[in-house]
Amino acid sequence: VTFLLAALLVHSLRLALVDERRALMAAHEKTLATQNQLQHAERLSTVGRLAAGVAHELGTPLNVVSTYAQMIETGAVTPGELSGTARIIREQSATMTRIIRQLVDFARAGRPQRSLLSANDLLQASASLLGPLAHKKQITVCIAPSATELVEADTGQLQQVLANLIVNAIHAAPVKGHVWGSVGRSTQAPPDDIAAPPAGWVTFQLDDDGAGLTEEVARHLFEPFFTTKDIGEGTGLGLAVAHGMIREHGGFITAGNRPEGGARFTVLLPAPARDEGVR
Ligand code: ADP
Repeated sequence: VTFLLAALLVHSLRLALVDERRALMAAHEKTLATQNQLQHAERLSTVGRLAAGVAHELGTPLNVVSTYAQMIETGAVTPGELSGTARIIREQSATMTRIIRQLVDFARAGRPQRSLLSANDLLQASASLLGPLAHKKQITVCIAPSATELVEADTGQLQQVLANLIVNAIHAAPVKGHVWGSVGRSTQAPPDDIAAPPAGWVTFQLDDDGAGLTEEVARHLFEPFFTTKDIGEGTGLGLAVAHGMIREHGGFITAGNRPEGGARFTVLLPAPARDEGVR
């Protein structure tokens, strides 16, 4: 009898366990489904926000193009004014192309193609791309020569990030001002959602002698479509795109002011393990 009772007890315990496991699995599946729904909703709301922003950003240049085209059509533009009018239309089209390209980059899915690159070469290349812009404002761009730090990165994406930061610095600096760029190392603690890399960070630091960041600007800096620039000058996507790309590379970006005044942006990317060589 004892044996039978024990067997019965084991049997019913087993049944209870099976039930428990089924209930747990069902709950787990429900959680997963909810999580998927949430992610989907979030994606949709981001797309909606971006679409609204794009429509807003494209509104002005589209208006200008259509107004000038109408003026040409109705003969309101004299032959002498024609080439100037055409130039405005071309410039406005270029602005629209830039807005759309930046948006596509922002929304781009998929993993970047990475290889081991010289951080200094990347910074130099991005700075020399912007030589003409700096020259126009008589701004001196100083890139400090550095030891050979390597980063594992997608060339195009990282160049875009650095170019965005340099363009912003050039915009912020006064006429005859300065922009300083340098590559270095850091062991700074990352934000909570990022793991600290075993070999520390390789840093890209960009400084300028502009007015720096106000508290209000610093709070919204990385939000898509946040800009303090005039229409046609800024899209407000540069830093949002940069932030996304750096996160994809396992790094992060910080923004603040230099003690002497002017802004300081630092990109921190995981330093590759020591035994890796340049591919
Ligand atoms: P955009 O340059 O098109 O405005 P960004 O996302 O690159 O978009 O920058 C957002 C805003 O951040 C800028 O409009 C500007 O107000 C501020 N900002 C960015 N870089 C600097 C800087 N170096 N100094 C001062 N303000 C800056």
